[in-house]
Parts: sequence; C-alpha cells; structure tokens
Amino acid sequence: MTLLSEVDRAELDEFRTGFRSWLNAHGDELEPVRSLPRELDAQFAVQRRFQRQLFDAGWLRRGWPEAAGGLGGSVVARGALAEELTVAGYTFPLAVSMIEVLGPAVLKFGSPELVAEMFPRLLSGEEFWCQGFSEPEAGSDLGSLRTRAVDEGEHWRVSGQKIWTSWAQYAQRCVLLTRTGEQAEGFRGVTALFVDMDSPGVTVRPLRAMSGDEEFSEVFFDDVLVPKSRTVGQVGGGVSVTMCVLENERSVLAWQRQTWLNKRLEDLVAENELTASARVGDVFTSLYALKLRTRETFRSVVAGQSVGAQSSVDKILLSTGEKALFDAVHDLATDQLLLDDSATATQWRYDYAYSRASSIYGGTAEVQRNILAERVLGLPRERS
Ligand SMILES: Cc1cc2nc3c(=O)[nH]c(=O)nc-3n(C[C@H](O)[C@H](O)[C@H](O)COP(=O)(O)OP(=O)(O)OC[C@H]3O[C@@H](n4cnc5c(N)ncnc54)[C@H](O)[C@@H]3O)c2cc1C
Repeated sequence: MTLLSEVDRAELDEFRTGFRSWLNAHGDELEPVRSLPRELDAQFAVQRRFQRQLFDAGWLRRGWPEAAGGLGGSVVARGALAEELTVAGYTFPLAVSMIEVLGPAVLKFGSPELVAEMFPRLLSGEEFWCQGFSEPEAGSDLGSLRTRAVDEGEHWRVSGQKIWTSWAQYAQRCVLLTRTGEQAEGFRGVTALFVDMDSPGVTVRPLRAMSGDEEFSEVFFDDVLVPKSRTVGQVGGGVSVTMCVLENERSVLAWQRQTWLNKRLEDLVAENELTASARVGDVFTSLYALKLRTRETFRSVVAGQSVGAQSSVDKILLSTGEKALFDAVHDLATDQLLLDDSATATQWRYDYAYSRASSIYGGTAEVQRNILAERVLGLPRERS
C-alpha cells in the first residue's frame, strides 16, 4: 500500500530524516514537551512554545499552502510530522490538532483575505481556535441547532449557547455554526461564522471533565456582532463546512491518533513485562485494523477524494480500538492504574478516562452505525 509516487516518496523520506535529526539536535531543550505539566496553563504554555519552534524551523508549515502561511507540498508531510512526533514521544500540540480539524474547512470556505490574515496566526501558535458546533439540545443532530444569527446589513447579530466547546478558554477565534434560516429548514438554514472570542457579548464558562481537565466550556453569545466578511462559505452552507470538518478529523488527526494508540500498547507491554497473550493479541488486531483503514482514508484525502459516509467505519474502529486498549490496561495493570501515584500511572489514569469519550466526540458510535446502515448499506430508515 503506497501513499505516494516515487518522487513524492523521496521528498517525504528527506523530510522525515531531516525532522528526526532536528528533534535529536534539540532533544535536551525539548524535554519538557515529552513530559507535559498536568496544570493546564503551564501545559498550554509549553505546547505553544513548541509549536512556535516547529513553525519557525518550517516543519509545521509543510503541507499547507503558501497563501495560508505554509510552505506548500503534500498533506502527507503533515501526517509524517504527526507520526514522527508521536513515535518519538513528543506531544502533538492541541492547537495543531485544531488546525487539522478546522484548518482545511477555513481554507476551503473562508475568503482569501480571512485565510491570509488569520491562518498564519493559528499555524504559528500565536492563536488558538475552537469549534462551536454542539448545543445543549443539538449534538448528534446539528440540524436542530438554535444559536441564531440575524442579518443586520453589515454584520450578523448572534445570540445563543454552545456546549462541549473544547479549550474555548484558550481560544481567540471560534468557527461557529449559527441558524440564519428558519428552524424548520434544518441544516439548510445553518451558516458558519468566524467569530472573535473577545467580542463584546461572548462569555466562556469552563466545565470539568471526568479526566480532571477543564477541557470543555459552555459558550454564551449575547447580541454578538460579527462582520459579514467573517461568513465562512455560503449563507445556508453550514452543512458543507461541517462535513469538511468531520472529514478532516479522519485524516491526519486519525493517523496521529492510531500512531499514539499503537505506541501506548507498546508502552503497556514494556512497562508491565507482558508476554504474548490472547488479550494483548486482540488489542493489537483491533489497532492494526484501525491503522490499515486509516491509511486507506488518508490516502483518499491525499488524492483529493471525498471520504464521505464510508469513513464512519474509521470512527467506529477508532473508538473500538481505543476502548479495547484501555480496558486491557485496566485489567492487566490494575494495581498501577488504581493505586500508584507516579507520573506514569497518573498518565494511564488520564488516558483511560479520556478513552471513554472516543465513542462520543466527532459523532457518537450509534450515529456512525446509523450512517453506515442508511448511507452505505442502504437499509431503510427507522420510522418514528
Ligand atoms: C472529548 C470531547 C470533545 C468535544 N469537543 C467538542 C468541540 O470542540 N466542539 C463541539 O461543538 N462539540 C464537541 N464535543 C461534543 C460532541 O460533538 C457531542 O458530544 C456529540 O456530537 C454527541 O452529541 P450530544 O453530546 O449532544 O449527545 P446526543 O446527541 O444528545 O446523544 C445522546 C445519546 O443518544 C444517542 N443518539 C442520538 N441520536 C441518535 C440516533 N438518531 N440514533 C441512535 N442513537 C442516537 C447518542 O449516540 C448518545 O448515546 C466534544 C465531545 C467530547 C466527548
């Protein structure tokens, strides 16, 4: 299975080799990136510094267009960067994950002026962006969202509430889904906007998750004025922006996640001196299936093909593999997981708790199965 032509492969090999030597040359200085502080402000500060170093050295700019502050080249470079960082035990900065989720949609649907002004800030780590999609009454069914944007000529007036907005307290901008049409229009009446988080009327209230972090926030919009030039895509075209975001969650980001899961399986085996067993074998098989499938999807994205409903298979494999791995950690390293106070055990506990979210974020496991049943297998919709 190859992702690349011979010419591209040579360029990619050079990229990987160059990046490995850069990491080696900066090993001492980058040590804090391998064992991040648990406290969030400190963690974000380390990640931001690291992202800036990756940007200044050009690594993070590969695979993004020059118009967005990148250096051009194939998306494959971004996958390679994610993989190299993860295998070497460095964090994949959260802001870089956000670039992978939101960046392609802003590039595709944002105006050239918006991209030129904003994208380099995101890429360099100067800014963090958040994704304002879910609402208290609209998660799986985004077509029922109620945050309203009223047309007032030069700008939109936005009012409503979002929830589960990851890291909103660190974000300078938000890609926000709003209702510009009638409620009865469903997704056809939804429009994406690019909103400054320091606009008057925006209030962020962090929520503590089971992992212990204040990852999520409720975000309130009270008569927030957003210039019309910040409309992302067509008015009423929010569905296309949303599909683009979801599709990109299954590209570089999924490749990074499967690399990380495979690494965590290796850590589990090494730290606990586990020998071959059916349990370890089952997890290995799940993660191997995930790897093959994710590579196939990534290959489609690199070829510029739409991955569509089929990629729900990837999301199911991801959550199944992630839960299988951390259930095995729970059962095979129980003492460490429950009783140990070391930094290693704390990290296992955090990862175990976080793994429970894998069948929720980016579309729940049930909804992915519905998509496969209806749109891939062509089964009839359930009548209510
Ligand atoms: C770690 C994490 C990070 C997140 N980050 C963000 C973010 O940055 N921005 C953002 O906008 N959102 C974010 N979310 C929210 C996430 O997108 C939603 O939680 C998800 O889409 C599900 O929506 P919901 O929570 O409203 O659940 P609901 O849609 O209310 O679903 C509740 C339950 O009902 C089931 N269900 C719903 N509809 C159906 C159906 N038709 N058939 C069968 N079962 C169904 C679901 O599977 C689920 O089990 C994040 C979530 C997590 C866990």
